[in-house]
Amino acid sequence: MKSHVRVAVIGGGVIGCSVLYHLTRRGWGEVMLLERAELTAGSTWHAAGGMHSLNGDANVAALQDYTIRLYREIECLSGVSCGIHATGCLYLAVTDREVEFFHAERTKAKLLKLDLDFISLEEARRLNPLIETQDYRAAMFDPNDGHVDPSGVTQAYAKAARDAGAEIVRHAPVTSIQALPGGEWLLRTPKGDVQAQYVVNAAGLWAREVGHLLGAQLPIVPMEHQYIVTQDIPELASLGREIPAAVDFDGAAYLRQERLGVVLGTYEQDCRHWAVNGTPADFGVELLPEDLERISGPLQVVTNRMPALARAGIKRVVNGGMVFSPDGNPIIGPLPGKPTAFMAAGCMAGFSQGGGVGLAVANWIVDGEPGMDVHAMDLARFGPFATTPYVLARSRENYQRRFILPCPNEELQAARPSRTSALHERLARAGAVFGAGAGWEVPLWFAPNPESAAEAPTFRRTAAFEAVAAECRAVRETVGIWDISSYCKLEVTGPEAGRWLEGIIANRVPREVGRLVLAPLLTASGRILGDLTLLKAAPDRFLMFGSPGAEEVYLRWLGSQVHTAEVSIRSVTSALGGVAITGPRCRELLEQVSSVAVSNATLPFLCAREMAVGLAPCTVLRVSFTGELGYEIYTPPEYLPAVYDRLIEAGASMGIRNFGVRALNTLRLEKGYGGWGREYTQDYGPAEAGWSRWVRTDKDAYIGSDAAARALSEPPARRLRLLRIDSRDPDPVGGEPVLLEGRPIARLTSAAFGHTVGHSLGLAYLPSSLDRDAMLEVQVLSHHYPARALAEPPHDPGGSRLRG
Ligand SMILES: Cc1cc2nc3c(=O)[nH]c(=O)nc-3n(C[C@H](O)[C@H](O)[C@H](O)COP(=O)(O)OP(=O)(O)OC[C@H]3O[C@@H](n4cnc5c(N)ncnc54)[C@H](O)[C@@H]3O)c2cc1C
Repeated sequence: MKSHVRVAVIGGGVIGCSVLYHLTRRGWGEVMLLERAELTAGSTWHAAGGMHSLNGDANVAALQDYTIRLYREIECLSGVSCGIHATGCLYLAVTDREVEFFHAERTKAKLLKLDLDFISLEEARRLNPLIETQDYRAAMFDPNDGHVDPSGVTQAYAKAARDAGAEIVRHAPVTSIQALPGGEWLLRTPKGDVQAQYVVNAAGLWAREVGHLLGAQLPIVPMEHQYIVTQDIPELASLGREIPAAVDFDGAAYLRQERLGVVLGTYEQDCRHWAVNGTPADFGVELLPEDLERISGPLQVVTNRMPALARAGIKRVVNGGMVFSPDGNPIIGPLPGKPTAFMAAGCMAGFSQGGGVGLAVANWIVDGEPGMDVHAMDLARFGPFATTPYVLARSRENYQRRFILPCPNEELQAARPSRTSALHERLARAGAVFGAGAGWEVPLWFAPNPESAAEAPTFRRTAAFEAVAAECRAVRETVGIWDISSYCKLEVTGPEAGRWLEGIIANRVPREVGRLVLAPLLTASGRILGDLTLLKAAPDRFLMFGSPGAEEVYLRWLGSQVHTAEVSIRSVTSALGGVAITGPRCRELLEQVSSVAVSNATLPFLCAREMAVGLAPCTVLRVSFTGELGYEIYTPPEYLPAVYDRLIEAGASMGIRNFGVRALNTLRLEKGYGGWGREYTQDYGPAEAGWSRWVRTDKDAYIGSDAAARALSEPPARRLRLLRIDSRDPDPVGGEPVLLEGRPIARLTSAAFGHTVGHSLGLAYLPSSLDRDAMLEVQVLSHHYPARALAEPPHDPGGSRLRG
């Protein structure tokens, strides 16, 4: 066993072996995997081995597709069979909602070049003659899905990695991990110690325990998961070929053929966590006690639809531990404050996702960034709000909803409310219908009366449509008010803070106190990491404002760039509440309630001032995300209710109106503004995003400056463009394909109906070579709508309302 390596991967399940393989594929041979027992000795050995590319997140779906296609490669490289059964998978719909969802997924699949498509029910029955009933309304088929041999896949990754120089040490449990000066790690095992530049926690069922060795509390928990294996089914014996895998969403069940029987698994409502307080160190290659009673409901539903299954009898029941994160996606990336400690954990679909997780983690270690937008899997999507009770409630809900297909207007209910603004009760009384983001309760829209607050999940225009339209009109015509307490707020202080920020952000750091700039953050390779607003609040104090969901991403990344005691960064999100007022009369409103004059001369665009609003000490920023004149008013939470009351009182005669995140989304699209996590992600660079005004090529080096200068010196292959889409109902909501002559050429990164312009709008990265007047289409479910790229935003293209 080597004593020094570049990377030590802990855990020899499918995920650890995939990470190891991908590191060797990037040319890193000095890597080692330490396994407590034998390879596959965690969740991996008893998995059903099903593989699917279907996933609600487009990037995760692409990585799942990558995983499936990788099996042939590692089989070829290693000479070890992965036991690939490329039977395809039938996705079966019973309800209207499922049929609608299928349409949505098929349009997304087109873009990702996945082969998922509708087939007739007759064809579905031909592929799987066990289907007998008339319950099914629609079927989709993906010919690339199927199942693999979990042990074969793990061994194939391991052999391919070993052949490329990696070392695998079995029966070597890591019992302690010590941080060494210089960022290296000392790992102790009964077989010897090893020093590593990077450590990867791929300990699956024990990832929480390995997380503790690294000083981290991971937001994951194992759940029990059961499947049955049936006795031989005569209909399959006589068929002479393997039937495709199948997912019955309504029955919350999946199946695949196993010899002449089937494996049939369910995601039952009466689900159970397992080993909540920690996975026992001596838990071996063993199963959990079976509990057929719990899954009898879903089994009954499916066996009614495929009666041959009921006649077959049960040969074996498998109940195993399976790790879940609160949203069911993996937990990957470096730990905050420990940039050389990576997580590759929380993976509950290792045979669909293992390749993609291995690729992203290996890239991240080798290049310092994953090379694509993996926020949906990044551990930094969770923060302190992901407490153990939160993880338990959310993982339970996620398990129960594994096969319940989500609608765009649907909000999950578990673990709520968790984080509420100081205005929560007031906004609730005003009719706010809340959604949850980054743990916060955020108003989505305001219902005019309690009866209209209930919204059925739908892919079509919702009950909120007219109310959101009225909120948008109020902002355009008079003044709207919006709770911004959830915005991420970071404070950078210290004598070197300004100089340090110059080396971090792509724009110039403001020289004068009270000035603001848009502050893009780039990765070293020039991809978009963030878009913040930066305020110089005092000579050695800066405030940064950004999207709520990005806070942990920013804190982790900015923290990893601080190498001096002269600079410190902290979150002040909880210390500063806030409201935004926006609309043509908002200056008049602010003047009525503030202690100082706020004319365009005294508080110009992109400036800030300290002032009293009502009685409260506030920092007021002249910025807006709606395309209207606007102010963001920040104050400690204990003052915020009084500030809000004062604004509502003074604004009453102007017709002030609360608005929510749905109206905000419409308003910013009418102005053509992109947003973090949608348009601004690591999938794109500043030239494509049209950021040449804020990404400077005429200042000293900052992170990503060389790459940005190169990118900005030539025309990008694609550009962010605003599209007018002539939709009726249903409208696009983001994610839909943009078609040219029937061919998908881009994806809408965001979309909404533009209530004050009278048509839908969407943003998309379109090929730069595209003819200016090209006739495009956007496909929403099964509807094709005409679309065209706009030369300028429909609302206030000159920006006079914003700056006036
Ligand atoms: C019943 C059931 C059916 C499933 N069916 C499917 C399916 O059809 N398709 C699918 O994609 N997924 C399925 N899964 C999920 C799948 O099993 C997991 O996603 C996958 O196995 C996770 O792999 P892993 O490598 O993250 O973790 P694990 O397999 O748990 O591996 C972790 C490894 O780390 C080792 N380890 C732990 N602590 C240490 C330490 N301190 N030092 C050294 N080594 C350590 C363990 O011994 C273990 O070998 C199923 C799960 C269950 C329970």
